[in-house]
Amino acid sequence: MKLDRRKFLLATGVTGASAFLKDLFGVDIDPSEAYAQEHDSRRGKITSTICPFCGVGCGMLVTNIGGKIVNVEGDPDHPINQGAVCSKGAAMYQISNNPRRLDKVLYRKPGATEWEEKEWDWAIPRIAANIKRTRDAGFIRKDSRGRTVNRTENIACMGGAALDNEECYTYSKLCRAMGVVYLEHQARI
Ligand code: SF4
Repeated sequence: MKLDRRKFLLATGVTGASAFLKDLFGVDIDPSEAYAQEHDSRRGKITSTICPFCGVGCGMLVTNIGGKIVNVEGDPDHPINQGAVCSKGAAMYQISNNPRRLDKVLYRKPGATEWEEKEWDWAIPRIAANIKRTRDAGFIRKDSRGRTVNRTENIACMGGAALDNEECYTYSKLCRAMGVVYLEHQARI
């Protein structure tokens, strides 16, 4: 093989850096083999979805057994990521299985410093009433030129990273139906 100056420097630089790190810190930066594991459908029901964390939109396969998510991994048939995921996507499983996940309603009264635990039956009608009151107070039927717009400009909605693709779809439909125009998701910003 003909070794020009550029190739020589590259080869000695990479090899030298690798040996240097190995000797000094015991860190091995040599390439290692990676492989995608075969998905075994006998382990549970597999559903495809989109990673909610960022705008790349990697395809994921979610396995659940009896309603409990037991595995999440990259979808090898998805055109965007072809089975690969970043470390955040690889940890998506923890959205569902996490002892630190809040699964109760916490309410803090105006001016209070403590959170109170509440029932969903208490919280949902209250949220609905607050949305209706706010929307009614600021709903715009026509713009300054008399055109029908049916906008709610005094409510802004922001989807969080723990909402999956299907939840975001439902959420955006609800917001559009209410006339909300300031609608975003953290993956886009
Ligand atoms: S967070 Fe990672 S896995 Fe998820 S969509 Fe973005 S790049 Fe893909």
